[in-house]
Formats: sequence, C-alpha cells, structure tokens
Amino acid sequence: MTASHRAFMRARSVIAGGVNSPVRAFKGVGGEPIFMQRGEGAYLFDVDGRRYIDYVGAWGPLILGHADADVTRAVADAAARGLAFGAPTEGETELALEVRALMPGLERLRFVSSGTEATMTALRLARAVTGRDKVVKFEGGYHGHPDSLLVKAGSGALTLGVPTSPGVPAALAAHTLVARFNDADSVGALFAQHGNDIAAVIVEPVAGNMNCVPPVAGFHERLRALCDQYGALLIFDEVMTGFRVAAGGAQALFGIRPDLTTLGKIIGGGLPVGAVGGPAALMDQLLPDGPVFQAGTNSGNPVAMAAGLATLKKLKAPGFYETLSQRVAALTVGLSEAAARHGVAFTTNAVGGMFGLFFAEGPVRYYDDVMRADADRFRRFFHGLLGLGVYLAPSAYEAGFVSAAHTPADISATVAAAEQVFSRLSGP
Ligand SMILES: *Cc1c(COP(=O)(O)O)cnc(C)c1O
Repeated sequence: MTASHRAFMRARSVIAGGVNSPVRAFKGVGGEPIFMQRGEGAYLFDVDGRRYIDYVGAWGPLILGHADADVTRAVADAAARGLAFGAPTEGETELALEVRALMPGLERLRFVSSGTEATMTALRLARAVTGRDKVVKFEGGYHGHPDSLLVKAGSGALTLGVPTSPGVPAALAAHTLVARFNDADSVGALFAQHGNDIAAVIVEPVAGNMNCVPPVAGFHERLRALCDQYGALLIFDEVMTGFRVAAGGAQALFGIRPDLTTLGKIIGGGLPVGAVGGPAALMDQLLPDGPVFQAGTNSGNPVAMAAGLATLKKLKAPGFYETLSQRVAALTVGLSEAAARHGVAFTTNAVGGMFGLFFAEGPVRYYDDVMRADADRFRRFFHGLLGLGVYLAPSAYEAGFVSAAHTPADISATVAAAEQVFSRLSGP
C-alpha cells in the first residue's frame, strides 16, 4: 500500500471527496490522486518519494516552476512583516503598477483572492453599468464557479460530465446565453435576437478549459465589433492566459482591447490572487467611489502581493517568452513525431507557455473537435506517463503548462517516455 493511497483514504474521511477541487481527484482518468510532498523547479515529488516532470504547474500559476528562489524569498520577507492587515499596503499599488505596465488597458484594478471572484465581479460590474442582465459565454468555457457562468462550463465540469450544476437557479441560468467558441456567427445570432439585453460577452481568449484551443483569425475582432455595435462589454477572462501566452496576455498577443479583464493564477505566483481591471470610468463604478458592491477580507493580502510582484518582475527578462514557446514547441513537435512513428492519431495546439494534446486528427478548433478526441487513449497515455515520471493534468480537457524551469533535457525525457507509451497504445 502506498503512502499516497493512505493519505487519500485519510483525506476522504474528512474532506469532501478527499480533494479541495474536483479535477484533482483523477475521476477523468481513473485511479487515485497522487499526494505531493514538495516541488522544485520543473519537478514534483510525491509522498512515496517518486519524482515527476510537472506539466500542471499548479494549474497555471507556476510559470517560474516550483519554489522559485526569488519568489520564496519575497514571500518569506513579506510574511516576516505580518501576514495580513486589512488596511491598505503599498505592495498592492506596486503589483497594480506592474500589471498596468504589462497590460496598459487596465487603468484601474481591484484585487481579489481567486479567478472566480474576479469573473463574478466583472459580471456584476458589466450588468450594473449596462443595466442589462444577459451574458454570453462559450460552450466549454470555464470562468470559475459563479452561478451565472456554470452553464455548459469546461474544466472540472466537463471532466465530471456536469455541464450545469444542480443548485444554480434556473431563473439565473436563463440569463446566460451560450455560443460556440471560434464561431463568431453564433455570437452574432445571439446579439440579433437578444442584443438589447446582453450586458457582456465573456471569453477565454485562448480556450484553456476544454483542453487548449487558440482563436481562429478574426474571431476576437468580430466579438469586439459585435459588442461595440450593441453596447455590450467584452470581458477577456485572462485568468489563465494572462502572463502565460505573452507578458501582456492574449490582449497584447492578438491586439484586442477588451473592456474588462479578469486575472488570476500567475498574478499570484502560486498564492491566491485574482484581479479585475479596465478603464477608470468603468472600474470607478465599484464601491467605494461607485455604487457596485465588491469586497474581500483577504483581498490584496501583503504576502500574496509579494509573490505576484516577484513573479511578474521575472517575466520581463529578455527572451523569456521566446524561450518558453521554444520549449513548448520542442515538446509538442516531439510528441507529434513520436505519435506518428507509432501510427497513433494525435495532434497538438500551443500558444506561448500553454499547450493541448489530443488523440484525434487535427485541426482542433471547436468544442466538438475536442469532444471527438479519444478519451480512452488519453487515459492510457496519462497513466503510462505517470508511471514513467511525467505528470500531466488528470483530464483530457485541461491545458498543459511549461515553466521557465523546464530544460531541454526535461522535454527530451518527456518525449522519450511518451514514445514508450505510444508504442503500447498502437498495439492491440
Ligand atoms: C482557473 C480559471 C478560473 C477560476 O479561477 P479560480 O482561481 O480557480 O477561481 C477562471 N477563469 C479561467 C479562464 C480559469 O482558467
């Protein structure tokens, strides 16, 4: 019996499902979650002492790898000065200035403690300033778990096959309209019908919670134009893509100016931070200067701000994103070539430091393309790699992440391990 199994049994006796976020439970791939003990650079070490090359990166935040020395020092220094004050601290301003320097469209920010809180706040603000109730989201798009956005959602909701959760009032879900990602006509049709009731379109600019699906050319331009035409707000949910696909996020990469932007994951460098930002005229509608309620006991926590600031500072190193995308390309090209050698139908997507793997012929552009990939092959691939010391997200519907700590040797070792697994997959 492994230490991980014992740890899981113990957790299950006191924590709902034994985990504090559902995808961690391995339901999407079968088996039991691996309990981790520590992380170092590109590696995770489990409670049985096994080492894994990690492509989960805490689900996105760890773009510098585990336990980065500068980040952990900044955290320790901040902690020594006090864990929380519930009064403003200059670290909040420092982090906000750093974010604004990278994403100039975020004139004003408000920090929260999770991506969920950020999208919830953005939605409330959009509804308040437009005086409209409806919101457009995309099938397979995940924005955390605000009630309004748990309709046809991705990530854990896809993995577990509950696109719409019990407990979400039908009257509220009725205000959520669902379009098809990469199909601007589907959004146009919703506007044609409900244009005067739509407060906002919320989109992951690179879909990252139905595996990884980049936008097709012109998609975001059409969304921008439709929102402008009908007086709705365009919300870029950059909780995953922010500082991941480029220093300035997807809005810089694609040259699109959203009205509101939500951030999370990397902005906290591994500690719980989220943010919503946009033009001052919009953001100043939040309390205390405006009427729209939003608050948080732990918002702008000084230790979390220090982790975020130390992380963002390192992203400005020359060539940071070039190197990161080279590593991702080495991985995706290596895996594709290995799959081809064994006659396994396989394709990949990648943008900046994120990637997607699909057991299907490409291209994968739409939600239905993702759904027709072979989930059983993914399951066997996942467990094969896990046994060889490579840790992928335990679900066919999650994006993968490479960090600055991943070396070319880590990538080669991953491809070599995958080659072994592909050779078994092509067999009977
Ligand atoms: C992870 C994620 C969220 C939710 O963030 P939490 O911190 O888990 O609440 C929201 N939007 C996107 C695009 C995400 O990837």
